[in-house]
Amino acid sequence: MTYIVAEPCIGTKDHACVDVCPVECFYEGPDMLYIHPEECIDCGACVPECPVAAIFEESDTPEQWKSYIAKNAEPFNGGDALPKAPTRDKWEELKKDPSSDAAKYYQAYPKKE
Ligand code: SF4
Ligand code: SF4
Repeated sequence: MTYIVAEPCIGTKDHACVDVCPVECFYEGPDMLYIHPEECIDCGACVPECPVAAIFEESDTPEQWKSYIAKNAEPFNGGDALPKAPTRDKWEELKKDPSSDAAKYYQAYPKKE
């Protein structure tokens, strides 16, 4: 088992979860963060930190987001490798530079109302 990130992260991506993960298993995807299924120790610490309830224990993933289970695993199964996700403070810092990927992210994935 593992925890996974689902659709609500897209456009939010505030990195609050990264700060509490004891094994640093969040990775930076172009659209959302991804959890490495073999590194996650199923502690659940990230779940209450997420402001948009995007993180689920795999088997508790709501029906409409079941496809996110495979989506989370894909980069670690021979898909495009992802870098480790930065901490929240680091992400906020990166966002200040308008030319950064962090700043451009919110143009590509506007925050949902
Ligand atoms: S459940 Fe624990 S180990 Fe897994 S991603 Fe969340 S904080 Fe990290
Ligand atoms: S706390 Fe939730 S919305 Fe924020 S980056 Fe993590 S999964 Fe995405």
